[in-house]
Amino acid sequence: MQIDPKQQELLRMLPGVDRIMEHCRRENAIKDTPKSVLLAAARAVITDMRKDILDRNKPVTEDGLFDPYILQRVKAHVKKSMTFNLKRVINATGVVVHTNLGRSILAPDAIENIITVSGCYSNLEFDLSKGERGSRYSAVEDILCEISGAEAAMVVNNNAGAVLLCLETIVQANPARKEVLISRGELVEIGGAFRIPDVMAKSGGILKEVGATNRTHLKDYRDAICDKTALLLKVHTSNYRIVGFTSAVALPEMVALSREFDLLTMEDLGSGSFIDFSQYGMRKEPTVQETVATGVDVVTFSGDKLLGGPQAGIILGKKALLDKIKKNPLTRALRIDKLTLAALETTLRYYRDPARACEQLPTLNMLTIPYQAIAAKAQQLADLLETINDQRLEIQLLDRSSRAGGGAMPLQDIPSRCLGLLIKGLSANYIENYLRKYAPPIIGRIESDIFMLDLRTVQQDELNIIKIAFTNMLKEAGNEPE
Ligand SMILES: *Cc1c(COP(=O)(O)O)cnc(C)c1O
Repeated sequence: MQIDPKQQELLRMLPGVDRIMEHCRRENAIKDTPKSVLLAAARAVITDMRKDILDRNKPVTEDGLFDPYILQRVKAHVKKSMTFNLKRVINATGVVVHTNLGRSILAPDAIENIITVSGCYSNLEFDLSKGERGSRYSAVEDILCEISGAEAAMVVNNNAGAVLLCLETIVQANPARKEVLISRGELVEIGGAFRIPDVMAKSGGILKEVGATNRTHLKDYRDAICDKTALLLKVHTSNYRIVGFTSAVALPEMVALSREFDLLTMEDLGSGSFIDFSQYGMRKEPTVQETVATGVDVVTFSGDKLLGGPQAGIILGKKALLDKIKKNPLTRALRIDKLTLAALETTLRYYRDPARACEQLPTLNMLTIPYQAIAAKAQQLADLLETINDQRLEIQLLDRSSRAGGGAMPLQDIPSRCLGLLIKGLSANYIENYLRKYAPPIIGRIESDIFMLDLRTVQQDELNIIKIAFTNMLKEAGNEPE
């Protein structure tokens, strides 16, 4: 690359690390920052500035090399490396169980229980009545059996782990029986690395597909059963639905068939809910209790999807099978941690009273909140934004739909109220980008070139933060040259 004399001169003027560090020591705002952070920032800024000088599209002037300007850039670097990488965001997408935004948020007393258990010793694996070693699962086993009707229960790190653990236990129990029958319509990929055929391979099971993509009949399972069959597996088609000319075999029929041949049946419910959402106008899905009542040998589901708790994999089923699963050495690799257990126990107790669960668990509350309440919140935010009193801001109140997310009820549009926000001189992309990088980040969506906030997932105490963000955005935009 050709470096012209002007560039050469600018490069010579670049300050060294020592000089920048000297400035930092005199700067109140950062002088107490750990030295390693300051050094890294100084080096990064020098590298960036060298790049700027060599980039002909970024004309750098001598002004840009003044110490105050450099110090400004160092401070920005320091600020970035001193803030947490994992942080709170405001979810204005309307997707309640948003996997990228942390899925479920916990009820306040679940959070409180996490604080208690993390700040003190606990009886995590200590039986207080006997004074001897206890089971980690005992904290949630009874409540899970109580609310689900299952004979036995256990919990692991997440549902993917639960599925792997159950399959592994079942197919490794008998070397002659490793085949697992599954409908071709249920070979699910959840996203990321979770694909049923891959999990099956990892467990040592041999996947045997039955039926066709759109239609599977009981006869297809029956015809596929042989002396190598171990299990009939049903997987909830969480994130898609096969519509049109379709047919699937209901779980009770699969359970009856497996009994006939002395085999096991398992269902991966995915989201798994104790609440029947059809009473809130959504599509009927079998609840956890209904699934357990079919007599299925084992069922698994997530703790942080429709259950509204922490990340966990919940396993319910027959005692004899669960006893084997609990003895599988894999449980140690997949084990649930104590903070999760504290939050899970608190969350599960709400289900003793389903109406209270829908009110108090944020995930359920956001899913079942009446449209009118969302509309009122939207109006409240619109009024708040009006008080910024800036002619450039146009606020529209729009009827749109939210999604449950987390691979639950994939095609279910839930009526919601949104704010469409237009700012003269700023594109929807600019607004989206500005708010995404705001502290705290505010995540909305763009629909037909309009930036949109769905109020279903926005909490009451976040309305004012959104107002301040827009105030700042408008102020900064005003400072830009036209
Ligand atoms: C979400 C889901 C999983 C994975 O659950 P995690 O808790 O995310 O590990 C597995 N199976 C189905 C059907 C799902 O919907």
